[in-house]
Amino acid sequence: MVLNTNIDRYLLAEKAGTEGVWDWDLRSDTLYLSPRFKDFLGLPPGDPSRETNRPNDWLSLVHPEDVDWLHASFEAQMVGLSVPFQIEHRVRRADLTADSATESKANPHWRWLVCRGMAVMDDAGEPVRLVGSVADITDRKHAERELRRSEERYALAAAGAADGLWDWHIDSGEIYYSPRWKAMLGFEDAEIGGTVAEWFQRVPPGDLDGLRTAIELHLSGERPHLQHEFRIRDKSGAEMWMLVRGLAVRDDKGAAIRMAGSMTDITARKKAEQQILFNAVHDGMTGLPNRTLLLDRIGQALDRNRRVGARPFATIIIDLDRFKAINDALGTSAGDRVLRIVAKRLDASRRVGDTLARLSADEFAVLIDEMDDAGDALAAAEHMARSISRPVTLEEGHEFVLTASIGVALSQTGYDRAEDMLRDASLAMYRAKSGGRARIDVFDTNLRRQAMAAMRMEADLRAALEQGQLCLHYQPIVLLETGAIAGFEALMRWNHPERGLVPPVEFIPLAEETGLIAPMGRWALGAAVRQLAAWQCRFQRPTPLFMSVNVSTRQFRDDDIVGAVRDLLDVVPIPPSSLKLELTESLLVQDPDECRMLMQSLRDMDVRLSIDDFGTGYSSLAYLHKLPVDVLKIDRSFVKAVSTGEGNAAIVQVIAGLATILRLDAVAEGVETEDEAVYLRGLCKYAQGYHFARPALPEAVERLLAAEDEHIALPAPA
Ligand code: C2E
Ligand code: CA
Ligand code: CA
Repeated sequence: MVLNTNIDRYLLAEKAGTEGVWDWDLRSDTLYLSPRFKDFLGLPPGDPSRETNRPNDWLSLVHPEDVDWLHASFEAQMVGLSVPFQIEHRVRRADLTADSATESKANPHWRWLVCRGMAVMDDAGEPVRLVGSVADITDRKHAERELRRSEERYALAAAGAADGLWDWHIDSGEIYYSPRWKAMLGFEDAEIGGTVAEWFQRVPPGDLDGLRTAIELHLSGERPHLQHEFRIRDKSGAEMWMLVRGLAVRDDKGAAIRMAGSMTDITARKKAEQQILFNAVHDGMTGLPNRTLLLDRIGQALDRNRRVGARPFATIIIDLDRFKAINDALGTSAGDRVLRIVAKRLDASRRVGDTLARLSADEFAVLIDEMDDAGDALAAAEHMARSISRPVTLEEGHEFVLTASIGVALSQTGYDRAEDMLRDASLAMYRAKSGGRARIDVFDTNLRRQAMAAMRMEADLRAALEQGQLCLHYQPIVLLETGAIAGFEALMRWNHPERGLVPPVEFIPLAEETGLIAPMGRWALGAAVRQLAAWQCRFQRPTPLFMSVNVSTRQFRDDDIVGAVRDLLDVVPIPPSSLKLELTESLLVQDPDECRMLMQSLRDMDVRLSIDDFGTGYSSLAYLHKLPVDVLKIDRSFVKAVSTGEGNAAIVQVIAGLATILRLDAVAEGVETEDEAVYLRGLCKYAQGYHFARPALPEAVERLLAAEDEHIALPAPA
C-alpha cells in the first residue's frame, strides 16, 4: 500500500471508476471522503481539496446492525491484519430522513455499500491511517433478494409437481424410477431400466464419490436422512444439477433394506449462484476478470514463483490515453462501446493462459505467466499497444486512433504481495503517461524511490504555499528597437529553507501533476499584478509597463481563471491590457472549443494572451487565427540557433513573418548575445534574455527602471 496523501490522485482514481474513496487520518482523526463517497452518503460535495470530515460523518449514517461489524474490521486492521477487509453494509442517506430502519427498494433512505479498506502503518508498525474504497451495491443486493424469493417459490412448486421419485430395494438391488425422474433427464419411460447403474453412470466421476458417501452415511445411520447436491448428464449429454433427498426403511436390527426419495432439478439455482460468484470477480461490462480475481491470480503466480526453477512472470497495466475526451465528446454509451472493443482486442492478443482483467473504466491489466525472460513481457506489451492503436470505427462513422500508456512490473523485482506488484506496474504506467503517453515503461526500484521523494516533495510544496516560501522574480522584456524595458515576465521561485532558491523546473511539473499548480498559479497572478500596479504608478511610461504571467494548462482547465482575473482587476488599478497571460500550445489542442471560450472571455476583459514557447509544441497554424491571441513567444531553441548557425535560424524568420501576417507581437525568448539581438531587431518587436537582464528580485528591477528614468530625464545635449 503506497502512502498517498494525494487527494487529487484520489479524485483522478475516482473519475476512472465507479467507486468512492476514503482516507482516515488516525492521528488527527480526520476523514477524507471523496466526492463520489459523499454522494453515496447524500452529503454535500464540499471542497474536495479540504479534509474537513470527521469519521462520525460516515459512521453515524451506518445502519445500527452493521456498525459494530465495521468497527471490528477497523480494529482488526489496526492491529495488523494483513488482508484488507471487505464488508457490505447499509447506510442512511444524510439528506433524507429515514422513516424506518428497514431497507427495501421502496425505501430509498438506505443504500447498500461494499467497503474495502486497510491500515497504513508507519515505520514502527503503528497504524497511522485507514484507507479504502466504497462502491454502491444496492442494485445487486435487491437483485439477490429477488432471486432468493423466486427460489423459494420455485422450491414449493417443484416439491409438488416437478420432482422425480425413486425407490431402491437394497437387498435385491432393484430400483424404481418414476416417469418424471426419467423425463427430467430427457428420457421416455421405457428408455431407462431398473438398475442403480442407470443413475450412477450418468454422474460425472468428480461427483460420484460424494454422492456415494452421502448415501452410505445415511445407510449406516450416521446421518438421519439423505440430502445431497450432485451433477448428472441428461440424454443430450448436458450437465444438470440435482438435489437428492431420501430416507431408508430399516429392518428390526436397524439395517437398511430399502431407501426411497426424490430428485429435484436445481440447475437454475446453481447457475444463478455461479453467476453471482462469477459477477463478484468479473467486470459486468466486458465480462473480464476484475481486480479481485487478478490479484488472486498474481498471488498464485507469486506462490508458484517461490519454487526453485520457476519461470519469471510479469504484470502489465494498460491505461488508455485521453479516454475521458472520448467520453466527453461522444457520450458515455459510445465510450462503453469503445471500451468493449478494446477489451476484445486485448483478449484476442493475449496468450492462452494469461489473465486479462479490467481494473477500472479505462484501465486494463494482464498477468503474463511463464516467461523466458523480461523480453517476453515487453513483446507482449508492444503487441497489446499495437492492437489498441488500430483505428476504431463506431457505427455512427466516428473513426479515431487510441493509444495507451503501459506499465510493466517483473517478478524478478521480488514481491511478496500481489498488491505490491500491481502498484509498481501502476507507477511504471504513470511514468509512461507523464513521459508523453503512448509509451511502455518498466518498473525499477528507482521508480519507487522517486515516487516516495515526489510524495515528500508534494507535502513540502503544499507547506511552501501556505508558509509563503514561494516568491516571484521578474525578468524584463525589452523593446528591441530601443532596448528600453517594456514589461516583465513573472517567474516563480521556491525559497526552500534548506535547499535555497529552487528553480521552477524542479517543482512546477509536480505541482501540475498534483493540481497544486492551481492555487500556486492564482497566488502568482495576484502577486505579479499587484507588483505591476506599484511599478506603473512609480515608473510612468507613455505605454504602461506590462506583466506577463505564466498560466499552466492544468491551472487554466481546473481553476476559474476568468473569475480570478476579473476579481483581481476589480481591486487592482491597472489597465487590463497590461496583463498578459502566457499559455502553452499544448493547451490549445486539447480542448479547442472550451479553450477558445475561456480565452475569449479573458480577451473581452481586454486582457492579452500570449503563446509561450511557440514552435516547440503541436504548432498548428490552423488554430492560431481562430483564437484570440496577441503575442507569440519564440522559443529559446530557435533564438539560440541564430548564433550557432544551425538551420533553425530560419525558423525565427518564419515565426516572425507569421506573427506579422496574423498581426501578433513577437517576443524572442532567451536572447543571450549581442549578435542574436542584432539579428532579431528587424524581426521581432520584443526580446527577453540574459543579454538584457536576468530574472531578479523587485529591488534589482526597480534599480534598472530608475536608471532608465534618469537616462530619459537627462537634458538633451545642446
Ligand atoms: P518559460 O515560461 O519559458 O520562462 C522562461 C525561462 O527562460 C525562465 O526560466 C527564464 O529564467 C529563462 N531564461 C530567460 N532568459 C534566458 C536566457 O537568456 N538564457 C537562458 N538559458 N534562459 C533564459 P525559469 O525561471 O527557470 O522558468 C522555467 C519555466 O518554469 C518557465 O519557462 C515556465 O514554464 C515555468 N514557470 C516559471 N514560473 C511560473 C509560474 O509562475 N507559473 C507557471 N505555470 N509556470 C512557471
Ligand atoms: Ca513563460
Ligand atoms: Ca517560454
